[in-house]
Amino acid sequence: SDWERRVRSSAHVRSKTGLSVLVTGAAGFVGTHVSIALKRRGDGVLGLDNFNNYYDIALKMSRKSLLDRTGVFVVEGDINDADLLRKLFDVVAFTHVMHLAAQAGVRYAMQNPNSYIHSNIAGFVNLLEVCKSVNPQPAIVWASSSSVYGLNSKVPFSEKDRTDHPASLYAATKKADEAIAHAYNYIHGLSITGLRFFTVYGPWGRPDMAYFFFTKDILKGKEISVFEGPNHGTVARDFTYIDDVVKGCLAALDTAKKSTGSGGKKKGAAQLRIFNLGNTKPVPVSKLLSILEKLLKVKAKRKVVSMPRNGDVQFTHANISLAYKELGYKPTTDLETGLKKFVKWYVGYYDPKKKSAW
Ligand code: NAD
Repeated sequence: SDWERRVRSSAHVRSKTGLSVLVTGAAGFVGTHVSIALKRRGDGVLGLDNFNNYYDIALKMSRKSLLDRTGVFVVEGDINDADLLRKLFDVVAFTHVMHLAAQAGVRYAMQNPNSYIHSNIAGFVNLLEVCKSVNPQPAIVWASSSSVYGLNSKVPFSEKDRTDHPASLYAATKKADEAIAHAYNYIHGLSITGLRFFTVYGPWGRPDMAYFFFTKDILKGKEISVFEGPNHGTVARDFTYIDDVVKGCLAALDTAKKSTGSGGKKKGAAQLRIFNLGNTKPVPVSKLLSILEKLLKVKAKRKVVSMPRNGDVQFTHANISLAYKELGYKPTTDLETGLKKFVKWYVGYYDPKKKSAW
């Protein structure tokens, strides 16, 4: 096949470090950044993405071109395609899988619940089935989500907290993935690490996320709904800059133990780890808007409305001491600095004429 010829004949997947990583969801926001970071330090990288139309495909294609220029090839395909996954493992002896393909977003579940089951549950199981059957078994690092904390009201969120009150189908599927990971680790000795991301933002970001469409709507002069919680309560997010998250992902790959193929109870058992990757500094959404107004030099037309029950939770706030201890994870980018980089990218991407102004 076409991809097979390209992969076999190119230097794309050759590793200078011993690490060879299959990145699923490589044309996604986080996948693009992680793939580039891995490639730059000399790891072997191959991407997989189904280029679905959940949001702007043109943006995904632009990310793909960026990856191409960096030397990362992205195979078009679905994580539910077991034959394709097995073929990928035939061609490249991946030591690790960075699994970022998923149906993201909490609100879209009201329109298309099945896409969450397809990608986040069936796709996840399919990927683990293939990983358990290849030899040697790769270590797996995958994206869980802060949304698993759901209606938990204890802050900051710690990995030990209960996660049995998801507020959306999206959160429920991520929580299910953590349970599925536990079972595959226990039975098949797969080494699996789950990373609970907290509202990741930055250049090449996702158009369905608030910081992105706020920017778009401010520039268009469109009215912006700012949610408030019950009793005028603040809605806040622990916004985490993409470069910080990428460092956490790479540290998780680097510290992952080998899969043992012998079940979690045996000697030298493969690990199952779960980490928060947040920023520990929740910021009210109204403040997010003020920073964007300042950066864009345009006043937003705000309209405060009470938060609908659409899958969002009122606040998120990560305790990251475990990730610090085990991964050396230490975010360094504050929201203002990170948004400045996002806005610079946004203006350059959507209006190259204005790029010079930045
Ligand atoms: P994204 O939507 O930009 O990236 C996901 C990519 O996976 C997309 O390019 C999509 O085309 C691809 N994909 C989806 N289903 C697929 C399938 N069945 N087969 C193959 N490819 C498929 O999202 P992102 O923001 O980069 O998120 C990456 C991961 O991190 C996801 O698992 C997401 O749930 C999780 N996450 C993200 C955030 C965040 O703030 N961005 C927060 C928490 C968790």
